[in-house]
Amino acid sequence: MTSQMEPIYARSVLPCIDEPARKAIFKISVLHDSSYAVWSNGEIERIETFGDGQTLSHFTPTLKMSTFLLALIVAPMSDFACRPDHLVGSKNTKSRVCGRVDILPQLAYADEIANKALEFFNIYFDIDYPLPKIEHFSVPDFGAGAMENYVGLFFDEKTVSASRKQYITTVVSHEISHQWFGNLVSPAWWGELWLKEGFANYMETLASDFVEPLWMQEEQFVVEKIFGFMEADSLPTSRPISIESTNPADIFQLFDLITYDKGATLIRMMSMFLGAETFQHGVRTYLKALSFSSATQQDLWTYLSDAANNTIDVERIMDGWTRQAGYPIVEVNRDYNTVDRERVGGRMVISQRPFSLFSTTMKRDKWWIPFKYFDRTSTQVNEDCW
Ligand SMILES: [Zn+2]
Repeated sequence: MTSQMEPIYARSVLPCIDEPARKAIFKISVLHDSSYAVWSNGEIERIETFGDGQTLSHFTPTLKMSTFLLALIVAPMSDFACRPDHLVGSKNTKSRVCGRVDILPQLAYADEIANKALEFFNIYFDIDYPLPKIEHFSVPDFGAGAMENYVGLFFDEKTVSASRKQYITTVVSHEISHQWFGNLVSPAWWGELWLKEGFANYMETLASDFVEPLWMQEEQFVVEKIFGFMEADSLPTSRPISIESTNPADIFQLFDLITYDKGATLIRMMSMFLGAETFQHGVRTYLKALSFSSATQQDLWTYLSDAANNTIDVERIMDGWTRQAGYPIVEVNRDYNTVDRERVGGRMVISQRPFSLFSTTMKRDKWWIPFKYFDRTSTQVNEDCW
């Protein structure tokens, strides 16, 4: 038995304020058949056994966390086990992979990636993973595909057995990056889900490039992520990536290509116009300042602008991308009626208009578009123009 609380199922398990910004410390106890083992967000602190074949397992208190990250697995001891622990990072975090006994040998690659990705993110974010252990569970027929619960991360068994190495690398990195983006700092509300899913989709690329550099995942970003959302975002049915809705039915719709792939694309664009180092600095300060709390996109703009010493107004640039649906098509035309030193067209006219697969009367504001170029007189790429 495996739980899945995200986005709004914790309320069906226990009375709670089931919203991502409402964080609490949980103390979990599970009454179960003694022939079964249980795992949850803490470590087993104490076990009581009863004469009727029942066991009461008590877990250590959790960190301050959102309800959607609560997790529980109950499995027969004879059929479910864990691979040996690895100690990762300066804090010797215990990392291990668990699954059905029959497929444990096939989880060796996922095990290796999990350790490398955890170490990568410890260093990238300059914040150590805050708990003494992290466990990755390979679960048969896990409906959600994968889930980043604090301590106990769940993966569908099909995604982590050794046959699909590239997918293992990205999905394991994705879920581990959520330990910072989503678990440590949660979106204040589901309407800005991209603040965790867009980041996880972007960070999985960075981590994959680190652990498997020969695969050049960044080179695949355009095909896998940008093309991924463009069609959906050029239909009249598309939506802004950030929405304001409190309707539970809308929350489920948010787990889509716009949140995941457009989110990752916008984050990559910010990293490009800020510069990778400035972006990383802004991300670190954002995560440190808001640890065990929640954030809005306004917070992100503030920390990224601060990282750039306020030479770039991230909010002004990005609001147009997050508050309206769609994207622009950009045309670059050389004006042959002007001449430069070499008597050829010396002027470039760059224009934008909203792209739509169908004719629409919907109005869009102009987007701020970072534009880099070089010409034959310059040896390097010019500064961004907008
Ligand atoms: Zn995710």
